[in-house]
Amino acid sequence: MIRAIVGANWGDEGKGKITDMCADSSDIVVRFQGGANAGHTIINDKGRFALHQLPSGVFHEHITNVIANGVALNVASLKEEIKQLTDAGIKFNLLISDKAQVLMPHHVLMDVYEEERLGDKKFGSTKSGIAPFFADKYSKTGVQVWELYDEEFLLEKLKTMYEKVNIQFKYLYDKEPVDYMEVFDILKGYAEFIKPHVTDTSRFLRNAIKEGKNILLEGQLGSLKDTDHGIYPYVTSSSTLAGYSAVGAGIPPYEIKNITVITKAYSSAVGAGPFVTELFGDEADELRRRGGDKGEFGATTGRPRRVGYFDAVATRYGCEIQGATEVCMTCLDVLSYMDTLHICTGYEYDGKVYKDFLTTDKLYKSKPVYETLPGWKSDIRGIKSYDELPKEAKAYVEFIEKELGVKISMVSNGPKREEILYR
Ligand code: GDP
Repeated sequence: MIRAIVGANWGDEGKGKITDMCADSSDIVVRFQGGANAGHTIINDKGRFALHQLPSGVFHEHITNVIANGVALNVASLKEEIKQLTDAGIKFNLLISDKAQVLMPHHVLMDVYEEERLGDKKFGSTKSGIAPFFADKYSKTGVQVWELYDEEFLLEKLKTMYEKVNIQFKYLYDKEPVDYMEVFDILKGYAEFIKPHVTDTSRFLRNAIKEGKNILLEGQLGSLKDTDHGIYPYVTSSSTLAGYSAVGAGIPPYEIKNITVITKAYSSAVGAGPFVTELFGDEADELRRRGGDKGEFGATTGRPRRVGYFDAVATRYGCEIQGATEVCMTCLDVLSYMDTLHICTGYEYDGKVYKDFLTTDKLYKSKPVYETLPGWKSDIRGIKSYDELPKEAKAYVEFIEKELGVKISMVSNGPKREEILYR
């Protein structure tokens, strides 16, 4: 059975925890898109870990973890991540696709220079080189992992590549050129480091499917950051959708039977872009401080996240575009302090109320239409069954379920693996 675990919103929905939890019954966990630009926080008996590229199955020795072809492979950052785990005495199995593309040193520089150039008009990039990386991938000038092992060919390729890169660095950004021989040496180091892990992961997965293995596809970010269907241009540069996992992992699309979509009991987002239910001032500060397990701050960047009330319009869209077969709501415990709960059920734009998600320009001008429900005002952490939740908490979950039109099969009431209520 193949299950995809993906986000309904702007990312940071708590996918890491749910993936880690579901990993117990999986044989393989796969990352199929994104790169080192975002992260999951996983808290388990071994500690608190921020994962960026490593699949969340790394905490289970019986699992094979796959970094598939769709990932922007940042080897320098992967090294750090692997060190974090080996220092904690964690052993794991990792395979890396021979067709994954390698993030190059100039991608990170370009990301930084371009944001500098844009000034006020910047995108709020994480500056990890993701946009320039995908630009190179789709203009077919990038380097796939297998190319690292043909040195003569690679050297020729780098020479041509950096002629162009250096023209851009000099004339557009007024920056120092990059020495392609230095890049060549860096890449040789990368090649050696990842060599024991490199294989044809698509074939590995297709065989595993034939053998009836349980495979978990782990998404990064969420629907609203999808390049095509998100809040363009404030999106990421690879698809965040379960549908893309067929391409990003090299498996047949019809094999993905379960699409578990994660949403938080409130909204949070990083980076620029429209955010209809965003809160500001003291109200925002309080939610940000109480959110997640240590406040709403980015797992990769430490940036304070933007926070707001639950947006049922955005989340329904997010679930539909993912093709959700079930929904998991996380962080319900965070809302225990609120007197009244607000749920956005429509967007008021140009004198009309819309139930459908709109294009970016219209989102900027939309005002949220709220339904309010009473809060439960008691700590719900430690509760072990859904039925034992206060009736107001159940009413909140069930109201949202109706709005989404998909079964909320799991509710998470704390950051730990065992803090989960099944319905
Ligand atoms: P991901 O990228 O989707 O995995 O999300 P992040 O890890 O960036 O953010 C989710 C944050 O919420 C992490 O700090 C988690 O430890 C935390 N978290 C997950 N589920 C719950 C929950 O049910 N309650 C609380 N309080 N925190 C949670």
